[in-house]
Amino acid sequence: MILPPIQYLRPATPADAVATLSEVDGSVVLAGGQTLLNVLKLDLAHPAALVDVHRIDALRGVRHTEDSALVIGAATTYAELASSPDVRRTHPEVADMAAGLVDRQVRNRGTIGGNCCLNDPTNNFPPLLAALDARFRILGVAGERVLRADEFFLGTLTTAVGRAELLTAIEIPALPTGSVVAHEHLQVGADSWALARAVVRLDVTDHVVTDARVVLGAVYGSPLRLSDVERMLVGSAPAALPEVELDLDTADDVHGSAAYRREMAEVQLRRAVRAAVERSGR
Ligand SMILES: Cc1cc2nc3c(=O)[nH]c(=O)nc-3n(C[C@H](O)[C@H](O)[C@H](O)COP(=O)(O)OP(=O)(O)OC[C@H]3O[C@@H](n4cnc5c(N)ncnc54)[C@H](O)[C@@H]3O)c2cc1C
Repeated sequence: MILPPIQYLRPATPADAVATLSEVDGSVVLAGGQTLLNVLKLDLAHPAALVDVHRIDALRGVRHTEDSALVIGAATTYAELASSPDVRRTHPEVADMAAGLVDRQVRNRGTIGGNCCLNDPTNNFPPLLAALDARFRILGVAGERVLRADEFFLGTLTTAVGRAELLTAIEIPALPTGSVVAHEHLQVGADSWALARAVVRLDVTDHVVTDARVVLGAVYGSPLRLSDVERMLVGSAPAALPEVELDLDTADDVHGSAAYRREMAEVQLRRAVRAAVERSGR
C-alpha cells in the first residue's frame, strides 16, 4: 500500500526529538522502521508525523563505562552490534544475538531500541536484556529516568516509554568473572517468529552457581523471569544442576496450542541450562 502523506521530522539531538514529540500531536518515533513502516503500510496506525531518530549521532554506537558496563545507543543497529569488537569482547551474547537476527536487510536497519520499545513478545532482545540486568535510559521533557527490565517491559507491545519520551540508551553491567549465558529458541519457520525462547545466565565461582537469571520469552507478553528456578539452581555445582520443570499458564494461538507452547518452553529452558553448564566447564 502507498502511504498517505505524513509529516517527516528529523531532529538533531535526543533533546530536540523529545521536544518535537511533545509539541507535535500524533507524532511517533521512527527508528529502523522495520516494524513501524510495515504497520503504516498495512493501514494499522495513522500517526500525524514521524520523528526520525535513526541518524541522531548521540543515539548511535557503543561505549564502556569505567566499571566496564556496556552502554548501547538506542538507535544502534543489529549490524553495528554484531560487528563491534568492543561488544564482542565484554558481551559476546549481545553480539551473537544481533548477528543471528533475521536477515541482512533487517540487521542493517533494525535497532536495539526499536526492538525493545516494540516489545513484541517474540522479539529477541527483551529476554536477553532482562537476563543481563540491563537498565533502560528514557528521556522526557521532565528529564531522564532509568528503569530495570521488569519496570520497562509492561506487556504485549507495551513498555514504560511514554508518548513524548525517547529510549536513549541501554546499559548492561559487566558480567561477573565466571558468568556464562546461553540462549535457545524454537522458531515457527526457518526465518520467522519464536514460539518459545529461554535465556539462562549462571554466575559460577569455584564450581558453584552463586547467582542465576532464568528468563523466558515468547510465552507471555513480556519477558518472564523464573525466580523459583533461579533459586533452585543457586548453590549447585553446574554439573549437578537439577532438572527443570515448569508450571506455565499459557494460551493457544495460531502457532500452536497452550500445551505445545508450554512443553516447548520447557524444552528450550532445559537446553539453555545444559548449554550454560557446558560453557561453564570450558
Ligand atoms: C521480516 C522481518 C522479520 C523480523 N523478525 C524478527 C525476529 O525474529 N526477532 C526480532 O527480535 N525482531 C524481528 N523483526 C523486527 C525487527 O527486529 C525490528 O527492527 C524491531 O522490532 C523494531 O526495530 P526498528 O528499529 O525497526 O523500530 P521501528 O520499526 O522504527 O519502531 C518500532 C516501535 O518502537 C518505537 N521506537 C523505536 N525506537 C524508539 C526509541 N528510541 N524510543 C522510543 N520509541 C522508539 C517506534 O515508535 C515504534 O512504535 C523482524 C522484522 C522484519 C521486517
